Amino acid sequence: MAQRRDRLIVVSNRLPFIFRCGDNGRWHLEAGGGGLITALLPVLRNRGGVWIGWPGSAEDAPDLSAELAAAGADAGYTLQAVPLTAEEVRNFYEGFANEIIWPLFHDMQLLCNFDPAYWRTYREVNRKYARIVDAAASPRDFVWVHDYHLMNVAADLRALGCRSRLGFFLHIPFPSPDIYLKLPWRKELLEALLHYDLIGFQTTRDRRNFLQCVRVLLEDTEIEGRGQVLQVAAAGRRVRVGHFPISIDFNAFMGQASALEVAARAAELHRLLPKRKLILGIDRLDYTKGIPLRLKAFHTVLTRYPELRERISLIQVVVPSREDIREYTDLKTEIEQLVGKINGSFVDPGGWVPVWYVYRSLSRLDLLAYYRAADIALVTPLRDGMNLVAKEYCACSIEEDCALILSEFAGAAEQLARGAILVNPYDVEGVADAIHRAFRMGGEERQARMRGMRRSIRRQDVFWWVDSFLRAAIAKDLRAFPGLPGAGDEPHAEYVSV
Ligand code: UDP
Repeated sequence: MAQRRDRLIVVSNRLPFIFRCGDNGRWHLEAGGGGLITALLPVLRNRGGVWIGWPGSAEDAPDLSAELAAAGADAGYTLQAVPLTAEEVRNFYEGFANEIIWPLFHDMQLLCNFDPAYWRTYREVNRKYARIVDAAASPRDFVWVHDYHLMNVAADLRALGCRSRLGFFLHIPFPSPDIYLKLPWRKELLEALLHYDLIGFQTTRDRRNFLQCVRVLLEDTEIEGRGQVLQVAAAGRRVRVGHFPISIDFNAFMGQASALEVAARAAELHRLLPKRKLILGIDRLDYTKGIPLRLKAFHTVLTRYPELRERISLIQVVVPSREDIREYTDLKTEIEQLVGKINGSFVDPGGWVPVWYVYRSLSRLDLLAYYRAADIALVTPLRDGMNLVAKEYCACSIEEDCALILSEFAGAAEQLARGAILVNPYDVEGVADAIHRAFRMGGEERQARMRGMRRSIRRQDVFWWVDSFLRAAIAKDLRAFPGLPGAGDEPHAEYVSV
């Protein structure tokens, strides 16, 4: 029998679709719109690829396979669901992924709940994904597994005899050995990761942390090469390890931000909040985002530099997330108390309000308008894999007359170090000084910095990211993936920083 042509098989915790129940009680699927999906679509369409993931509803929910098949046909690739029981969702997704790996990999070990039952379910669920991938993949396909929910899948696939090439990309940071070593299953997890052929991290720092953990925990480690992708031998396996900073669809953001209705909405914001610079924070409700410390820094700037009162306002957007978990509801309360404290201390009845607090998910139009209206973006996560808000802000700043204050612990800092004002988010006085500096920065310097950052993000957009990962993974067979922009060109550009 003739073999199928090489396909791309994407595996992620969730399928890129959201199930919605309509007023008539019938379920339908809505396509997710993130940059990852946009970037992978051309490749998936050209190769008739497959996307494998959890549909987001428990196993005992109605059978949605017909809706999945129809949505896949519309999208131009096949969707394959991994059904999960309610208990699996609890122990694998909420437990191991979100109560252990998420806090540990963001350096917040004290928030970890190292429950051994979580690890057992994580392994079982990874095996479940592996069985479904194995049934779908041929030896010529390239399987690209995404993120911290699925680190064991390659080891399980190899145990099943799968011969496809396997790549993995970690969207969140990788911690240093001091932190990683706290994980009770540290060696098993590292050995499992080495079954991928290519492992991608966001930054050189994450890759360095990973390699240090490999050296500390595994025997006979050898690391060869230089540049973006290194060869690593450890525990009897050879694997390539690279850094590939994820990005955004720069041109789409820039184009949409240029629309007249976005400009009108941004101008409206300045009319409502006149004669002041607007400072913007946009974050999901999450303890890694550093929102309370940012608010304390804003309080400090108003105390330390009284001349800025009435001349700046902070618009802090918090997008609701995981509100059923105590850490998150406590965080929300803390944020609201801090906003109340700042406004209570400085507000001018009938006039200036220092902090505009928005607790909801924004429409696309509002998101773009906030980006366009903001004179300063304040992006201060305590730790972040990349932080796309920082890049989207730059893409939407079409006048290039604004400033980005960025945490040195965001992955984006590696690329934007020379254009952004880098801060340590734990240093509230340092962040306050950075706000003051951004406020006073001259137009020429602002523009030069923003222009450099935009140039870098435009060159290394999300299409570049997919391209460079797939090139590293399947270098020799690139022609088999004609959906890739630039397929057939010379090897990818080296990492470009501004
Ligand atoms: N975002 C959103 N809804 C909103 C506000 C923001 O979907 O109301 C998007 C934003 O455009 C960005 C993403 O959420 O693409 C946040 O990505 P980031 O990497 O900054 O942080 P994450 O939430 O993934 O940790």
